[in-house]
Amino acid sequence: MIDSSLPYAESLLCREKALATACVHGADDAGEGAMFGRALETPVVLSSAFGFADAEHAAATFRGEGDSYIYGRWGNPTTDALERALAALEGAEAACATASGMAAISGALLSLLEAGDHVVAPRALYAETARLFRERLPRLGITTTFVDATEPGSFEKAIIANTRVLYIETPANPTLGIVDIAEVVSLARAKKLLTVADNTFATPFSQTPLALGVDVVVHSATKGIGGHGDTIAGAICGSKERIAAAADVAIKGFGGVISPLAAFLVTRGIKTFALRQRAACANAAGLAERLAAHPRVKVVRHPSLPDHPRREVALRQMHAFGTLLSFEVATLDEGRKVLEAVRTITHAVSLGDTRSLLVHPASTTHSTMPAETRQLAGVGDGLLRLSVGIESLDDLWADLEQALAR
Ligand code: PLP
Repeated sequence: MIDSSLPYAESLLCREKALATACVHGADDAGEGAMFGRALETPVVLSSAFGFADAEHAAATFRGEGDSYIYGRWGNPTTDALERALAALEGAEAACATASGMAAISGALLSLLEAGDHVVAPRALYAETARLFRERLPRLGITTTFVDATEPGSFEKAIIANTRVLYIETPANPTLGIVDIAEVVSLARAKKLLTVADNTFATPFSQTPLALGVDVVVHSATKGIGGHGDTIAGAICGSKERIAAAADVAIKGFGGVISPLAAFLVTRGIKTFALRQRAACANAAGLAERLAAHPRVKVVRHPSLPDHPRREVALRQMHAFGTLLSFEVATLDEGRKVLEAVRTITHAVSLGDTRSLLVHPASTTHSTMPAETRQLAGVGDGLLRLSVGIESLDDLWADLEQALAR
């Protein structure tokens, strides 16, 4: 477990040391390797069903005895390897891989909530998660109050008699607002509530919410964990008991199973996770500093910057400041020009890839949010979100400079 009270540089160093071996060996399992001619790397097992030795073996396996596989939606050796690696990255007792980040978020929440329950969640959220809370869960009798989660005390004010879950996304997409994890956890513990954190933006390189007391961590592994922009995947991490319950709902019940091929790709991506994150975090901090000094840029949001409004909280709870930043130019029109002028940087959604990705949230990822909610969440018309990749910092800056000069 990482001591988050350490000074920033020391905490980052500890984090890197803890991750370096976990990334390379987290998926290892001597038993399964032996099954496949002692393969060192994770075999891709594409079988939907698994055979039984005899009738008693089948019956015993269905009674939950032994560790034989039955059917791909109930378990698969390639997926198990990924789940070991995911648990190692987050420092979790267990992890469950899912078909996508949204399968992880909806499955985790549905395993914890029932009709009549209430959730408190930040206003600044990934837009599809916001839709889940605003449109889909109310149809099942689950309601949500949205708060400005960067304001101390905001969660406490929104708690009502039937509140069950405090939901966090920090840093927030795309505003890079920082929620104080320790504050939310201590409130939840005092009120006997559960906490769920989407750690997609930070990734376990920069932040480990379970170590800060969060009950369940969810991820879009499509992003920094998989890291190569070639697959859609998700993860739920937590205690063995909670993960068994979440997998039962998300995978067995609602069918959000990851394909073994996708599980393999994410497992392979994880091998270089710490190296990629280190390079991309350094690039993001370098670009944030240069953008902040650029005359055409109104505001830059990245927790590495001394003027980030919640930098002190970020320093307390993050090992590194992450690979995402956002910046604002004066108008929507100026924003469009920048998007269309970049060359090394790619104009596309998604984040956490090796390549840098630039997007205009107001007209794309956050266009499903009602305009007023979007403004309240801090997603202005001139805001651009940059997911910084592992290209050369100087090439990325040269590209942004030429695009901003147009
Ligand atoms: N959480 C965050 C913060 C995201 O940015 C996204 C997608 O962009 C998701 C969850 C959903 O992940 P997926 O697209 O893998 O379902």
